[in-house]
Amino acid sequence: MRIDVVSIFPEYLSPLDLSLIGKARASGLLDLHVHDLRSWTTDRHRTVDDAPLGGGAGMVMRPEPWAAALAAVRKAGRGSLEEPEAVPHLLVPSPAGAPFTQAMAHELADEAWLAFACGRYEGIDERVLDAAAEQGPVTPVSLGDYVLNGGEVAVLAIVEAVARLLPGVLGNPESVVEESHAPATGGLLEAPVYTRPATWEGRSAPDVLLSGHHAKVAAWRREQSLRRTAARRPDLLSRVDAAQLTRADMAV
Ligand code: SAM
Repeated sequence: MRIDVVSIFPEYLSPLDLSLIGKARASGLLDLHVHDLRSWTTDRHRTVDDAPLGGGAGMVMRPEPWAAALAAVRKAGRGSLEEPEAVPHLLVPSPAGAPFTQAMAHELADEAWLAFACGRYEGIDERVLDAAAEQGPVTPVSLGDYVLNGGEVAVLAIVEAVARLLPGVLGNPESVVEESHAPATGGLLEAPVYTRPATWEGRSAPDVLLSGHHAKVAAWRREQSLRRTAARRPDLLSRVDAAQLTRADMAV
């Protein structure tokens, strides 16, 4: 997968050199490019913002550097993907975007090329998104119902959530099958997890986990998963496909 990120703070994305994502980059599973938006400014001060039309607080990111940056990204990506018609799916972090979910992460992990436009200040002039939508898919995406100072933190989260779903990035591909929010679990929260020692400071792990009885362990995990979801995120239960519920599930 190729990923391009455009930001006025490229150093903000340096954690993407670390850990499993860093390894995925080093091994070529992830071809990630971070670009400084100011490279596409033309004035001495490398200006990227201006006052909002109609007045109001803050500044808005000007369209010209963004248009030039996105055109350059499209050109570079087509060259590297060796597909003259390829276009990236442009993701624009915004508190006014669609909520980012695990289901979206799975969809994005199937794509060959993603690009991110990191807003700052009051955001990016809307015409940049309108023009980009004539070139390819554009999705404003929100990390949650709160406001950050810029899109970079959202990009770190989204890239990590997507890249760990790419084949070969995690050591054990099963890890992503039965975890919280995974499609295979119907989007439920994962059951509590334990490791050795079986008893720690007088607290014992559930006996069933030491039983070696796989079916009983699976049943216990399913029950805990339902209980935890009902307690912490009852909103998620409504998304569970009723046809997938077993008699044991209904008893929980
Ligand atoms: N004026 C904007 C509004 O009220 O919708 C908020 C702008 S915010 C201060 C600056 C930038 O931070 C946004 O352009 C976006 O890139 C990013 N951002 C802020 N909150 C975000 C969130 N919840 N999810 C994703 N990106 C966010």
